[in-house]
Amino acid sequence: MNFNSGRQGLRIRTSIPNRESKMAAEPRRCRYCAENFVPSIFHHAQNVCSSPECQKRRKRDDHRARYCSDSEYRLICRESDRKWRDCHSNYQRNYRQQHPAYVEQNRRAQHRRDRKRKVKDLVKNNLAFDVKSASADVWLVGPQLGDLVKNNLAISEIMIFQTVAAPEVRSG
Ligand SMILES: [Zn+2]
Repeated sequence: MNFNSGRQGLRIRTSIPNRESKMAAEPRRCRYCAENFVPSIFHHAQNVCSSPECQKRRKRDDHRARYCSDSEYRLICRESDRKWRDCHSNYQRNYRQQHPAYVEQNRRAQHRRDRKRKVKDLVKNNLAFDVKSASADVWLVGPQLGDLVKNNLAISEIMIFQTVAAPEVRSG
């Protein structure tokens, strides 16, 4: 059997003799847990301690930062995710069945993103109005509303935006 072929050839040597004694770096403060730690001699720029929780956070944050900034990395991640989903086709369906709250939360988030995109498109196409703010709530009620919506001259959509609090009027 040839142990030097394929993945075997990629084996990394993990034990390096007598290097631990050279660990003389000054202790640092972990940027996550704020505990002091001694950085590894192999990672002089280390600013996160070696606790599993902090390493997990570091990896997640590194991944996010790179995912946002590196388009090639993004493609690789998406392809990897796609392959994983292909191999575990039932996972997502089972998860959704067992976590209805998650499904609902996702549905709402998608709905919000869709609306946000619609508003952006409207603004881009100069179709949005600059509406003056008012403190009154407007309610459209009644069976005729359906006809109004169908009519292209009337509103086709009602959007409610969170308003900025009015400045307090000081007396005296
Ligand atoms: Zn830490």
